[in-house]
Amino acid sequence: MHRRFLVSLLCAAFVFAATIGASPAVSDDDALFGFTNASSPAERDWESKFKAIPDPAILRDTMQRLSAHPHHVGSPYDKQNAEWILAQFKSWGLNAQIETFDVLFPTPKERVLELMAPTKFTAKLQEPPVAGDPTSNQQSEQLPTYNAYSIDGDVTAPLVYVNYGLPKDYEELDRHGISVKGAIVIARYGNSWRGIKPKVAAEHGAIGCIIYSDPKDDGYTQDDVFPAGPMRNENGVQRGSVLDMPTYPGDPLTPGVGAKGNVKRLAIKDAPTITKIPVLPISYGDAQPLLKALTGPMAPESFRGGLPIPYHLGPGPAKVHLKLQFNWDIKPVYDVVFKIPGSESPDQWIVRGNHHDGWVNGAEDPISGQIALLEEARALSILLKEGWKPKRTIIYCAWDGEEPMLLGSTEWAEYHAEELKQHAAIYINTDGNGRGYLGVEGSHSLEKFVNSVARDINDPEKNISVWKRGKAGRLVHGSAEEKKDARSRPDLRIGALGSGSDYTAFIDHLGISSLNVGYGGEDEGGIYHSIYDDFYWYTHFADKDFIYGRALSQTVGTMVMRFADADVLPYDFSDFADTIHRYTDEVKKLLKDRQEEVRNRNQDLDDGVYTAISDPRRPTVAPKKEEVPPFLNFAPLDNAQNALDRSAERYTKAAKAFASTTSTEKLQPLNDQLMLAERKLTNAEGLPRRPWYQHLIYAPGFYTGYGAKTLPGVREGIEEKRYAEAEKEIERVSTALKNYAGAVDEAAATLEQAVKK
Ligand SMILES: [Zn+2]
Repeated sequence: MHRRFLVSLLCAAFVFAATIGASPAVSDDDALFGFTNASSPAERDWESKFKAIPDPAILRDTMQRLSAHPHHVGSPYDKQNAEWILAQFKSWGLNAQIETFDVLFPTPKERVLELMAPTKFTAKLQEPPVAGDPTSNQQSEQLPTYNAYSIDGDVTAPLVYVNYGLPKDYEELDRHGISVKGAIVIARYGNSWRGIKPKVAAEHGAIGCIIYSDPKDDGYTQDDVFPAGPMRNENGVQRGSVLDMPTYPGDPLTPGVGAKGNVKRLAIKDAPTITKIPVLPISYGDAQPLLKALTGPMAPESFRGGLPIPYHLGPGPAKVHLKLQFNWDIKPVYDVVFKIPGSESPDQWIVRGNHHDGWVNGAEDPISGQIALLEEARALSILLKEGWKPKRTIIYCAWDGEEPMLLGSTEWAEYHAEELKQHAAIYINTDGNGRGYLGVEGSHSLEKFVNSVARDINDPEKNISVWKRGKAGRLVHGSAEEKKDARSRPDLRIGALGSGSDYTAFIDHLGISSLNVGYGGEDEGGIYHSIYDDFYWYTHFADKDFIYGRALSQTVGTMVMRFADADVLPYDFSDFADTIHRYTDEVKKLLKDRQEEVRNRNQDLDDGVYTAISDPRRPTVAPKKEEVPPFLNFAPLDNAQNALDRSAERYTKAAKAFASTTSTEKLQPLNDQLMLAERKLTNAEGLPRRPWYQHLIYAPGFYTGYGAKTLPGVREGIEEKRYAEAEKEIERVSTALKNYAGAVDEAAATLEQAVKK
């Protein structure tokens, strides 16, 4: 799973363009960031050798091999792929092994969806083979269409259409006087992570949830449908997990610990992350008769999709029967891991991962990223034979069980938590890959590093650096603020990490600086999590000559090498400090906007505005009066910010002087300090109501899922009207930022000493 296809496809190009972009010309004579003038040339030589190795023909063959059969958790081909990846690593002389965890993974036993009234219709719940697509007919090996970790259930009730099924959609329904209490809701995919939809539906009293793919979001409204084009056809269904990831990802029965051996497991009935109501995903072919049978008020403009029907809200007269039963089995997941021991600082680790399991054949998701990882491994093994000696330990991980809910990576990270917290300097993730612009999200202490690497990677379509191309994309497609930044700011901004792929446990649970990297924005698709995400689709509609697969290998491999070889770990804190300014301004503005909105609405209610505008033939319900949000004390945050600004500036100055240093001895303590700095942004108690999430700066939104919430305790406190809590969270974030600033200051002092010598 990954969020690229979940962001509305229309804005995918924008999202990627917006991520990376321009700066002053950097010449090859300048020192690399983290290296000295003396040590840079050797690093450049090794990186050039590395970048020449990844081969589009091999990428293609490997994709064909790994996506030849369905390879979900527990399937024979999932295990065969893990063993094949292991054999590849070993054949290159890498010290690899498979690490196994045992996790809860439900698969469907019975799925029924029927329209009972006013007419009868039985949903097909099938994705048929497509002529010409050779793997689409592997029915006996395919997982049926379903949402993993939906609870069992058998419900019959009137239907209500709830748009994307987000909290604001229910506010809109309230305005039309519609309740979903005791109803089955039908929501469309998109605008949030899918697990939010049944969660919010259950909070509003619904007893069942259907999620369908509307053609406006990833079907014929965008482009031709598969197999004529890349988009979702009327039978395509988006499988996917609905486990409550914003509470904690990974095995639902073993929160916080690795699911290995005799670990204590929760009873299934006590697992808080399994849904409260049954949930089923369907195609728009199956959804249309249900939606068409709804009457009641016309859906507001923002609710209407791309089907050729009037969209009504209901409830009824459409009445549906939803029956779901699952096999609640414990299944093995196979993580394939190799280590290259560091020659000078073996206790500092560079961790790099991509998952290998798919929902079905999964050529795009995840194999397009997995093949890049494999080519990096092959290339690194060649360099090792030629005498390259990375200073630090490199760990490569091909994760299993990502699709059901980041199972392989989360269990591994939980099992190895203590050593990872001590030793991991960075985690670099990829998932599905496409064509176009470099997109990066991650810890902002890595923003300068990401920019430095992006300037050294060639865009295969334009023969300019991917950094320059990113800047161009931003100048044209970016928001006003992004355009301004791209013109004036030396570094292109990277996004914040929410969730949606295997970096989650590393950054959010363990506080390890992390990156998520991929190319995209020029390709579109509507095959996400369907049987049509296969080799045929990828080689017709995506990066079909695998040149961006090669670019991804080059990008991430260069990141790994530079982090493993650097004299001083290439963190920088000025971009981080700048980013915290933005976040602080945002939460202050959020509160101010909220106050104004409530004040105005209360005034309107007093003035009878809502009564005046209610159309007697289509009456609407006035919202309720609310208390105006109180003022909060942001002073601790401002003070922490001030301390951070000063220490970041001091560090940047010391780092500039470092390039001309001749002695790089005695840098070990400095690198340890740098490596541990990000941990200061965590708190062992975690976020309110979700202790597994320990990072106080980044988290997936409780009501967005994939989408990041930055300063999550403060921001969500304000959004969810828990003002006293928000004020407490301001204190906690401020303390963490002050400690972080202290760590940066210490690192700056150490670096100043090293430069003097
Ligand atoms: Zn994926």
